[in-house]
Amino acid sequence: MQTTVLAVLAAALLSTAPAVGAAPDGLGFQWPHGQKTAVSLGYDDALDTQLDHVIPALDRAGLKGSFYLQLSSPAVERRLDAWRAAARNGHELGNHSLFHQCSGRAAAWVRPQRDLDTTSVAQMQDQLALANTMLYAIDGQRERTFTVPCGSTQAGDGDYLPAVAGSFVAVKHGGTLLLAAANGALRTIPVDAYAPNGHSGKQLIAMVEKAAARGRLVTFTFHGVGGEHLATSSAAHDELVQYLAAHRQHYWTDTLLNIMTYVRQQDRGDD
Ligand SMILES: [Zn+2]
Repeated sequence: MQTTVLAVLAAALLSTAPAVGAAPDGLGFQWPHGQKTAVSLGYDDALDTQLDHVIPALDRAGLKGSFYLQLSSPAVERRLDAWRAAARNGHELGNHSLFHQCSGRAAAWVRPQRDLDTTSVAQMQDQLALANTMLYAIDGQRERTFTVPCGSTQAGDGDYLPAVAGSFVAVKHGGTLLLAAANGALRTIPVDAYAPNGHSGKQLIAMVEKAAARGRLVTFTFHGVGGEHLATSSAAHDELVQYLAAHRQHYWTDTLLNIMTYVRQQDRGDD
């Protein structure tokens, strides 16, 4: 037995095989293909610039992103065919609610009828279920992830997150990433979460490299790209995308749905 152990150790030390990726921080498994980490490129609010600039850039690079649609956004109805084509091409259409309810106490721009402070947990549950049905009508997919509008889940009568989390593979909630396990429990996944706003390409790349140094999953939540609100320039976004494409042996860039499905599969006892 001991000889076998020594032989295995010696083989490991002498091996010339490529280095296996580090175990992700706080997770008991490794990323696929020895990659250092996984990168989720997310885009909130269903914006025209995402269709005009982001999807062409990702498609040129052969990378997939997650687009969190606010179903009441005019750019959903007006450009339904473009969203449908993006989904056919492997991008994720994520749930970002029907009406983007946020706290009116926290943000003056919130319209009264979309104020989370006066919306109930049951209303949010109904609306997110309807949003999932609408997304299913657009892309034919049954599984997806959810990004919480404004990072706030405090409805008028309590926290709506426990009532809805089971409807998604994962939930991005501010700087937190929650995985919905098969038994209904929520597991917090260690993540470096960024919401760029005016950052340069070099700064975006540095965020990825910092996360990769410790094998930690990195999520980006972009809004406008090359225009619209909380904008990142097209040049900065392109620089990040090209960097990720050129170093795909180190970084697994994919939809949050695919990344979190992988995490769930690795999670022993979950399936
Ligand atoms: Zn949003």
